[in-house]
Amino acid sequence: MAPALDRIRFAINRAERLAGRPPGSVTLTAVTKQQPWEKVLPVLQAGQRAFGENRVQEALGRWEGAREAWPGLELRLIGPLQSNKAREAAELFDVIETLDRPSIVAALAREAERLGKALRVLVQVNTGEEASKSGVAPRDADAFIAEVRRHEALRLEGLMCIPPVDEEPAMHFALLRKLAQRNGLSVLSMGMSGDFETAVRFGATHVRVGSALFGAR
Ligand SMILES: *Cc1c(COP(=O)(O)O)cnc(C)c1O
Repeated sequence: MAPALDRIRFAINRAERLAGRPPGSVTLTAVTKQQPWEKVLPVLQAGQRAFGENRVQEALGRWEGAREAWPGLELRLIGPLQSNKAREAAELFDVIETLDRPSIVAALAREAERLGKALRVLVQVNTGEEASKSGVAPRDADAFIAEVRRHEALRLEGLMCIPPVDEEPAMHFALLRKLAQRNGLSVLSMGMSGDFETAVRFGATHVRVGSALFGAR
């Protein structure tokens, strides 16, 4: 049983409907960082397959070898990546959402080439231009996106953002959508436990929900 999962799926469906978007246009990424396996397992058993982690090492401990038992598993890195973890990240994750500087782009492209796979990636945009947050500044986004696209081993799918905690998230979601549209990108990873319904209204294709699904960390 995973009652919180049902509640969140229901809320996403309702937000899709209210926004006039087709049912199923938003994917729920269940954020499992710092959560015990006994909370993750029922959610897996209920059919959830997309999971977000923010640390490579922690994700390895939880998910390495899990694909055989759980076909269709999709692992998404949503936390900052260091170049010295690029190899492990490229091997473990299906999607890396946090590309934010040339050195990490180069390191991931190298590892993806080595693995012979087209690595799916998103660019993280620091929509609030906060010093404490990673992500490219909005004014640098177009040039950075063009740079990511120069690497054949990387498949750029879209953009991701984490709005400042003390601001209305809607304007940040709208900005991310504008940047994605301008660059012909279809994936928008935005919205967390407190604001995922607003994010759906502004076009999110992926919402990243942790505490509302698993409880406080
Ligand atoms: C932890 C985290 C989330 C989930 O946050 P909740 O508020 O617990 O839903 C989403 N996105 C990122 C990047 C995170 O680090």
